[in-house]
Amino acid sequence: MHQMSRSLPLILTTVLLPAAAVAQRPEVILTEEASRIHAAGMLFDGHNDLPWQMREVGSSSFDATDIAKPQPQLHTDIARLKTGGVKAQYWSVYVPASTDAEGTALLQTLQQIDLVKAMVKRYPETFELASTAADIRRIVKAGRIASMMGIEGGYSIENSLDNVERLHKMGCRYMTLTHSKSLEWADSATDDPRCGGLSEFGEAVIAEMNRVGMLVDLSHVSPECMRKSLAVTKAPVIYSHSSALAINEHPRNVPDDVLKLVAKNRGIVMVNFYSKYVIPTEQLTEDRSQTGTIHDVVDHIEHIIKIAGIDCVGLGSDYDGVPTLPKQLEDVSTYPLITQELLNRGYKEADIHKILGGNALRVLEEAEKVAAKLQQAG
Ligand SMILES: [Zn+2]
Repeated sequence: MHQMSRSLPLILTTVLLPAAAVAQRPEVILTEEASRIHAAGMLFDGHNDLPWQMREVGSSSFDATDIAKPQPQLHTDIARLKTGGVKAQYWSVYVPASTDAEGTALLQTLQQIDLVKAMVKRYPETFELASTAADIRRIVKAGRIASMMGIEGGYSIENSLDNVERLHKMGCRYMTLTHSKSLEWADSATDDPRCGGLSEFGEAVIAEMNRVGMLVDLSHVSPECMRKSLAVTKAPVIYSHSSALAINEHPRNVPDDVLKLVAKNRGIVMVNFYSKYVIPTEQLTEDRSQTGTIHDVVDHIEHIIKIAGIDCVGLGSDYDGVPTLPKQLEDVSTYPLITQELLNRGYKEADIHKILGGNALRVLEEAEKVAAKLQQAG
C-alpha cells in the first residue's frame, strides 16, 4: 500500500526536459525462451494488497467479488496470477495508520488475516497457506500458489510484544515496522521523526521478531530507522516493496549507503512498481500523467544489483495497493515481461531466478534458522 505522500520540495524544482531527453524505450516482447525461464523459476512477490482492495471495493466477500472470474477493476485475479506465473505471494494484511488512533489496529488486522484465509479456503486448487520456506517449495511443486501474509504497520501489535508471536502463529511472516506515520518506537520515511529512528522498545520488537521467525520489513521506514534496525537485527531483513533512491529521489526509496548495509545483512530489497516511486523525478511531466514503463522498474532492479549484489534484490509489486503502474506492468499477468527484459539486458537464467523469488526464499530460510537458534538458546 502506498502512503498519501506529503508535498515534496524536489517535485517543485523539477525541470521540464525536452521530449528527446525522455526518449521512449521499445516495448518488451515476450519470447519462448523468456517464457520457459519464467516458468522454471519461482516468482515470489513481496507485497500484494488484494485483501485491502477486497475490503474496500469487494465487500470483503469472495461471493460478491469472485476472483475465479475476471475482475478488471482489480490488478489481481486467479487467471491473471496464472498468466503471470506467480508461484508464491506475501498477501498484505494492511490496515490504515488511522486504526492506531482508533484503537482498532489489531482487530482490523485479524479481520484481514481471516479474509486471506477465506480466500485460500474458497479456492483450494489455486492457493495454499504456507508457514515455512519448506512449505512453499512443497506447495509450488503441487502447482498451487504458496500464500503467506505480511503485516503492514507496526501499530498492528498495539505496543504488545506478545502480539508478535500471536500474529506469527496466525501465519504472518513479516511486519513492516511503520506505514506512512511515525510510531512512538519507529520512524516513517514520510512523517516527522518521533524516536530518532528506532526506540529501545523498537529494538525489543525486532528481537522478538527475530526470535519467532517473523521477517523485519523496512519498507516505509525512515533511513535512520533502516540503519538502526540493520544494526540490531540478527536475521536478514526484507524490503517487501521498495525501490532505489539513486534512481528516483522519493523518500520511500532506499539510499545507496543502506543498500550496502542490506548486502552485509544478506537481506533483500523487493522492488516496488508504483509509478511515483519508480519514475526518475526529472522525467516527471507537468501533468504528472506519465506512468513510466517496465524499463524504469528494471533500472531499479539493476541499480540494487550494482550496489548490493545479485543476492539482495527481488520483486514487491504493490499490486492493488497503488493507483498508477508503469506501461507493460499493469497487473499481475505481466511479470514474465520482467524476465524478458532481464534476459534482454544479458542476465543469465540462474540470476533471473534469484531475482524472481530465489532470493526471497533464501532470506526466509535464513530467518527460520536464526529463529530456531534463538529459541534453542532462550
Ligand atoms: Zn505500502
